Amino acid sequence: MNFVLARSFQGKMDEPIVINNFIGGVMVPCQDHIDSHDPSTGLVWAKIPDSGQAEVDAAVNAAQAAFEGWSCKSAQTRANHLLKVADILESRLEEFAVAESRDQGKPVWLARIIDIPRCVLNLRHFAHAIPHHLNTSNVNPEMGVVNYTLREPQGVAGLISPWNLPLYLLTFKLAPALMCGNTVVAKPSEMTSVTAYMFCKVLQDADFPAGVVNIVFGRGPSAGQALITHPQVPLVSFTGSTLTGKFIAQATAPMFKKLSLEMGGKNAAVVFDDCDMESCIATLKRSSFINSGQVCLCTSRIFVQKSLFKDFLEKFTAVAREVKIGPPSDKDVFMGPLNSKPHLEKVLRYISYAVEDGGQVLCGHGVEILDLPPQNKEGYFMRPTIITGLSDKSRCMQEEIFGPITCVTPFDTEEEVITRVNDTPYGLCASVFTSNLARGHRVAHKLKAGTVWTNCWLVRDLDMPFGGVKKSGLGRESTQDSLEFYTEAKTVCIKI
Ligand code: NAD
Repeated sequence: MNFVLARSFQGKMDEPIVINNFIGGVMVPCQDHIDSHDPSTGLVWAKIPDSGQAEVDAAVNAAQAAFEGWSCKSAQTRANHLLKVADILESRLEEFAVAESRDQGKPVWLARIIDIPRCVLNLRHFAHAIPHHLNTSNVNPEMGVVNYTLREPQGVAGLISPWNLPLYLLTFKLAPALMCGNTVVAKPSEMTSVTAYMFCKVLQDADFPAGVVNIVFGRGPSAGQALITHPQVPLVSFTGSTLTGKFIAQATAPMFKKLSLEMGGKNAAVVFDDCDMESCIATLKRSSFINSGQVCLCTSRIFVQKSLFKDFLEKFTAVAREVKIGPPSDKDVFMGPLNSKPHLEKVLRYISYAVEDGGQVLCGHGVEILDLPPQNKEGYFMRPTIITGLSDKSRCMQEEIFGPITCVTPFDTEEEVITRVNDTPYGLCASVFTSNLARGHRVAHKLKAGTVWTNCWLVRDLDMPFGGVKKSGLGRESTQDSLEFYTEAKTVCIKI
């Protein structure tokens, strides 16, 4: 590992890490930088390249130059390259977990058991799965022809990723894009660029062919925009907010680019009175507050059947009050800070909106004291907050907050709750808690969401389509869906 990174990850940070772009297989310094803050202290800990058109042009040129060599390799050869990267990444799991925690704010244990292992899985899964799905053939004796389909890579894929699951979501795009034979220019979030930079070193150490992966760091409106509108980038895979997704759709529409958009959510949980309450509450604690509520799939509306409402609220509030908040390096901490000061301020504004809209804050911000060690007083922390008494049309029930705030509301019947859950502009995921299997299926079929979990949450199988409906997304990601997105099908017909 780069000694500057190693020193910083041990906490002996004298000066911030300076990050370089990764273009054509080499680290390329950038003239201008953006400060990146450690969310648990508020101190600057990394300097991110403030790249623009020139850096993006250089990266796209490098990716284009590498395309022919990479796309002509067999799927097995490409898989071997990815598997080597996965092995090196796995061997450095702890360093990556510490860095992801430091950069993003999540507890180290969470990055250790979820984020980084999932990056390794992303690389291995697509390396193993894509070769088995690439081409199909069909002999038609009546027509006297053989048809076969080629799934062809399209060139340079532009990948834009957010700050909440930094390397996890980047590798979820990178692995299938590469396995399908594309070369890549990626732009991670300017809020969390450190693990992507460390990943460049892994690519070098794995002798990954130069120019196949290029990473340009910088802001959305400069580096991001230059990438998505680049004429030599025919496809863009984006994960981030609905607002940015809408902008990308508008900016790229006249260029007929292929787009995959994974965007915001306003995810609901439906708690029926026949559920296993203890397991439901444990799941909802995770689904509402893990990563400080900054997972696109986090629950932010909980509909509880009336007969259970009072009991549920008491128990759920008691569990939220027990949540331990503090430095992400502390192994007993469940919730670290939010990712940035502006984001914390935005999330806290929603508590004021809730009060203005007639809601009651049962626990969390402004109710219990947040007790932090002195070095974390300037960090972006808040307590998990539960709000009730809001109408379905209130801002907290309609808009994505993306923080540790969840709203709880009662309902009477199955039909009623389905209508109310569907009454938002979003449709990413939902969860249902019931011991009635038939009801679980029935409700899942009627909820307008890309994924519905029953009696669980965040169980992900990479073969299963992932994505949202309405303002939550366009397209799906999975073995098959990603293969279709990152390739174009061509039919070849031969007379026999
Ligand atoms: P964001 O939209 O602000 O930024 C996402 C990425 O887009 C960043 O890399 C950013 O630099 C870039 N970007 C911003 N403006 C751009 C522009 N004009 N052109 C090109 N790129 C631009 O989102 P965020 O705040 O980083 O992430 C949080 C959001 O992401 C939440 O809304 C969350 O729900 C969503 N999200 C969705 C999923 C999903 O799978 N549906 C997963 C994770 C996060």
